[in-house]
Amino acid sequence: MSTKVEKSEDEWRAILSREQFRVIRQKGTERAGTGEYDKHSEAGVYNCAACSTPLYKSTTKFNSGCGWPAFFDAIPGAVTRHVDSSWGMERTEIVCTACGGHLGHVFKGEKFDTPTDERHCVNSVSLTFENGDGTEK
Ligand SMILES: [Zn+2]
Repeated sequence: MSTKVEKSEDEWRAILSREQFRVIRQKGTERAGTGEYDKHSEAGVYNCAACSTPLYKSTTKFNSGCGWPAFFDAIPGAVTRHVDSSWGMERTEIVCTACGGHLGHVFKGEKFDTPTDERHCVNSVSLTFENGDGTEK
């Protein structure tokens, strides 16, 4: 799971859809409420759409009402945080540890009723869902 995935931007462009490339490699954001997994609630694992590394379990997903899939915790080590101050405010960007693909941002202290009081706000296009508990991997 700690295998590094390194590809050139042209290689990523060939693998990913246009929208995936825009979000994952160019740090875009899908429109709120349009994502495939926003209101998705099946049991399973959400993998990185670019490199298939498991990132989030469905047991940590919660309904934040924000328009994007929200998780209160990631699979340990799967997600790396970077401080992003590009919009004039400090936000914490989250990327896939393995391939560096952009996932979304983490927000803290919003008082959602979750164990961590954090919200990982993740673009659906950065994820692919897999049914099951993920333990067979
Ligand atoms: Zn990845």
